[in-house]
Amino acid sequence: MKANAVRLLDWLAAGNILVSDGAWGTQLQAAGLQPGECPELWNLEHRSKVLAVAQAYVAAGSEVIGTNSFGASRLKLGMYDLADRTVAINAAAAAISREAAGSQGWVLGSMGPTGRILLLGDTSEQEVTDAYSEQALALASGGADVACIETMSAIDEAVPAIRAVRENTSLAVACTFTFNKTSGGEFRTMMGVSPADMARAMLDAGADIIGTNCGNGFEAMIEIVQQIRTVAPRPIPVLVHANAGTPYREQDHDVYPDTPSAMGERAPDLAAAGADIIGGCCGTTPEHIAAICAALKALSPAANP
Ligand SMILES: [Zn+2]
Repeated sequence: MKANAVRLLDWLAAGNILVSDGAWGTQLQAAGLQPGECPELWNLEHRSKVLAVAQAYVAAGSEVIGTNSFGASRLKLGMYDLADRTVAINAAAAAISREAAGSQGWVLGSMGPTGRILLLGDTSEQEVTDAYSEQALALASGGADVACIETMSAIDEAVPAIRAVRENTSLAVACTFTFNKTSGGEFRTMMGVSPADMARAMLDAGADIIGTNCGNGFEAMIEIVQQIRTVAPRPIPVLVHANAGTPYREQDHDVYPDTPSAMGERAPDLAAAGADIIGGCCGTTPEHIAAICAALKALSPAANP
């Protein structure tokens, strides 16, 4: 495993809580990304604007920074006729975040769903494995430390993704699932997976870091992390990228209700519930990350010798 990835896992095992980044899509839209445009192509065509997003998060206190590569598997880029640029787009994504993070920061190479459903026969396990392997190798070549397989809902897609990274790269592997509360009050993914089932299956498949992203604000994430912790106690590292609350619709757009200070106030409770890496997903901004960072640093042993 890459030395910087080992350093990250050691740092987490020692009980440190790390702050991650927030949403990228909305930041890129604010910088001019148009609806229907491929966000990841910006790594090649608007590099300085993508770098500015990463730098804004690092300036806000992100010690762990993602990459603009969520939809950059060959299978997703194919929808924009960009499959032949997969390697260049991912290598650039990682290089941009590495430039912002510096040598001491940690870069999590984002890998979202392929958009195909194995259960429906949309793709094969081999095609999924090949796509994630190619993407992870390119992210590693650009300077990523960790492959962050995120927004997962199906175990049969996440397992080959984890194996593809482990068998073909020297990256550490993080895998996070998206849960929603059912009418019965339980957390399940779109494919019916519970937080505890996710944790067991991802650890069996070889994930170094497990967790949850999107779908929920801190309130619900606290419950989800408690459920993950029933089967995956510390020091297994848990990552949470939470939305800025549950959105509601206003005219033609979603409004995320949780303010930076609201998220900052709840961040210590999320850490106490068992989250080790804490950051944002939809609706979060550098201001949210700065508030989370301030709240968590006030707790850390270094701040209270
Ligand atoms: Zn999200």
